[in-house]
Amino acid sequence: MSDRIGFIGLGNMGRPMASNLVRKGFPVVAFDVNPARVRQLEQLGARAAADCAAVAAGSDVVVTMLPDSPSVEDVLLGAGGVLAHLRAGCAVVDMSTVDPRLTDRVAAAAADKGLAFVDAPVGRLASHAGRGESLFMVGAAAEALARVKPLLEAMGTTIHHCGGSGAGMRTKLVNNYLAIVSCAFNAEALALSQRFGLSLEKTLDVIHGTTATNGQLKIAWAAKVLKGDTDPGFTIDLAHKDLTLIVDAANAVKVPVPIGAAARESFSAARTQGQGARDFSAMVDVLCDFAHIARPRLG
Ligand code: NAD
Repeated sequence: MSDRIGFIGLGNMGRPMASNLVRKGFPVVAFDVNPARVRQLEQLGARAAADCAAVAAGSDVVVTMLPDSPSVEDVLLGAGGVLAHLRAGCAVVDMSTVDPRLTDRVAAAAADKGLAFVDAPVGRLASHAGRGESLFMVGAAAEALARVKPLLEAMGTTIHHCGGSGAGMRTKLVNNYLAIVSCAFNAEALALSQRFGLSLEKTLDVIHGTTATNGQLKIAWAAKVLKGDTDPGFTIDLAHKDLTLIVDAANAVKVPVPIGAAARESFSAARTQGQGARDFSAMVDVLCDFAHIARPRLG
C-alpha cells in the first residue's frame, strides 16, 4: 500500500499503534498537541507535522486516536481541521471512542467532500496495541473498509465489520458497557473478599471456575492492579467518559441503563478523589482505601 498515512493523537493507544505502522514500513506523518509525543514517533522514523492541517495536506489516509468527542470534532470538523484540508478521494479513519451521533455527522461531512470515512474504534488493552494485537469494530461501506484494511491489519489481529457507518462506534459502546461495568463490579466484589479476610488467590480460582468469571478480572486485572501496577493503560477518566457516552446514547433511544448510570457515578467518585489519571483497574484500590480495607495484591 503506497498511501501516505497521517496519524493524529499519540497517547497510550495512538503511540503504540502509530509505532507499529512505522515499523511495518508505512510512511507516517504524525501530530499531537503534546510535542514530546510527536518527537517519540519522529525518532522511530515518522515525519512530524505542525498541526492537523499539515497532516491532512501531506496524507492520503488520516487516522485519529483522540480522547473524546470534543477533540474529534475539533480535529476533524474544525476550521483548521482534517476535512477542511484533505483532498477529495482520500480517507479518514476515526479509532477514538466518541458519541455515535458525532460519528454520523463526520460521516455525512466526509461524504459531502468526496472522502471515504471509516469508524474503527478499538477493543482490548494498550498492551495489545503495543504488540499489534488490537481488535477493530468497523462501521463503513465495504469499499471504504477494503481501502484501509492493510492499515488495520498492521495494528491489529481482528477486524469485525459491524455494518455501515456508525455501526462500529455503536458496537464499541455496547462492548464497553459490559467491560467497564464489570470493572466497577469487580472492585466491589474484591473489596468484600478482602474485608472477609479471604485468600485472594483462592477467591480468584473460584471466580475463574464459575460463570462469575470475566475478562476484566481474568485478563486485565491479573496483569495490572493485582500486581500493583496502576499506570494507565486505560484511565479512570476515559472509563468515566465512555460510561457517560453510553448512558447518553442509551437515553437518546429510550433504553434505560440504571446499572450503567450507577457504575458511572463510582467512577465520578474516584475522579473526585484525584484518581482520574490511574488505570481503571485501580477502582478497587480507590474503594478499598475509602473503606480502610487492604488493597488486593497477588504475591
Ligand atoms: P490518551 O489520553 O492517552 O491519548 C490521547 C492523545 O490525544 C494525547 O496524546 C493528547 O495529547 C492527544 N490530543 C488531545 N487532543 C488533541 C488535539 N486536539 N489534537 C491532537 N492531539 C490531541 O488516550 P488513549 O488511552 O490513547 O485513548 C484514545 C482513545 O481510544 C479514547 O477515545 C479511548 O476511549 C479509546 N480507547 C482507549 C483504550 C486504552 O486501553 N487506553 C482502549 C480502547 C479504546
